[in-house]
Amino acid sequence: MQDGGCGHGGPYRRVEELAGVGTWSVRIDSGELTVNQAARSMLGWAVDRGDPTLRDFLGAVHPDDLGLVHAHAEAVVRGGGEYVFEHRVVTDDGRVQHMRAVGSAERDPAGRVTALHGITLDITEFREAAAAAEEQRDRGRAVLAALHEGYLVSSDGGILEVNAALCRMTGFSEQELVGARLPYPFWPPEQVDRMLALRQRLTGAGGGQAEIDVVRKDGSRLRAAMTATQLATPSGNAPLWFLLLRDVTIEQERARLLQTRAETDPLTGVQNSRTFREALRAAVATTGTGEALSLALIDVDHFKRINDEHGHAVGDEVLVAFVQRVVGASAGTGTVARVGGEEFALLMPGLQLADARVAMERALAAVRDVPLPTVGRVTASAGVAELRADAVTSDDQLYRLADRRLYEAKARGRDQVC
Ligand code: GH3
Ligand code: MG
Ligand code: MG
Repeated sequence: MQDGGCGHGGPYRRVEELAGVGTWSVRIDSGELTVNQAARSMLGWAVDRGDPTLRDFLGAVHPDDLGLVHAHAEAVVRGGGEYVFEHRVVTDDGRVQHMRAVGSAERDPAGRVTALHGITLDITEFREAAAAAEEQRDRGRAVLAALHEGYLVSSDGGILEVNAALCRMTGFSEQELVGARLPYPFWPPEQVDRMLALRQRLTGAGGGQAEIDVVRKDGSRLRAAMTATQLATPSGNAPLWFLLLRDVTIEQERARLLQTRAETDPLTGVQNSRTFREALRAAVATTGTGEALSLALIDVDHFKRINDEHGHAVGDEVLVAFVQRVVGASAGTGTVARVGGEEFALLMPGLQLADARVAMERALAAVRDVPLPTVGRVTASAGVAELRADAVTSDDQLYRLADRRLYEAKARGRDQVC
């Protein structure tokens, strides 16, 4: 074989070697192929391999790219000019290499093509790196597409990218969101200042989490847990922000419902005993020396008789009606709680003893005045105590004093306040 790098010798060959450029020439009439050392090693051909032919080269081309190689060669033979394209070869030891091939035709004075000359560059590393980068990008996209949460990417107060989940969540289309600037279309109009302050805080901290209100395009609202993350960007570029939004409306409603259920008496719907005791303790602890805090305990009179005469179910209905009357009469004065079977408490912050007694008289009148269906007139008795006027200091003492006065009211003939 001839080994001369397109017929050039001396310094050119050295330059080709340094550049790692493969060169080749093929004579059309004989099929004789001349390749330099760089081209040989790209093809994985052993040094001691005999003189290669065009057939050897075509045998090394990746089977899927043979058509491409032929097409380019034929095009340059027919039409002249140059070709540049990429193809793969399979080396003798089975590696797939990526090549960029550049070639042109040599013609005799009659215009017939007598030879093809060209160079070939090994771009395997570049192709593999590009493929790996693409794979990574695809994987990143797949992860983002799989997100149930909505997200947006923003820069300098403008939205660059959103996902379908955010569009679904907010009711705004991608066209409406991408390109939008602060204040964003899903910000509640009355919270713009608050949102700008939040944005400033998160920007200063390099990211963080917050719960925000989101307004949908149709005006309805949802609560979203937002995570803001500053993405790494080349220095000098405006920072990119990744905002992830998760709709927590249902979660919060469920949590609120569970909490309400945990704090409420199921029959009457008022505060239950445990929650009342906590509220009483907190109220006593936070009532200042100059402030009033009154507590009333109310018990239905002769309730056992109602049960005995009409049954437990009617007894329950009476309790519900009774509570409605007490709650109605005491509206604005305090919170009603069920502290026993047919015993209730009314905590009245800010009400002095005399005023609390008046409020209780009103409540008992509301119970007494209108007879209930089935059972007729129902009455109740109440004991009232006040933190400061009665000089008690603890929630237990206050409760016990109110209880003693309730007992007194019963002893004095019921249907009265003591
Ligand atoms: P007093 O005027 O002294 O308070 O008499 P009373 O009959 O109301 O008091 P007592 O403590 O003797 O009876 C209370 C009754 O309340 C006994 C109990 O069976 C009934 N009770 C407790 N919880 C419920 C309830 O949830 N539903 C019904 N229907 N009855 C209840
Ligand atoms: Mg009773
Ligand atoms: Mg009782």
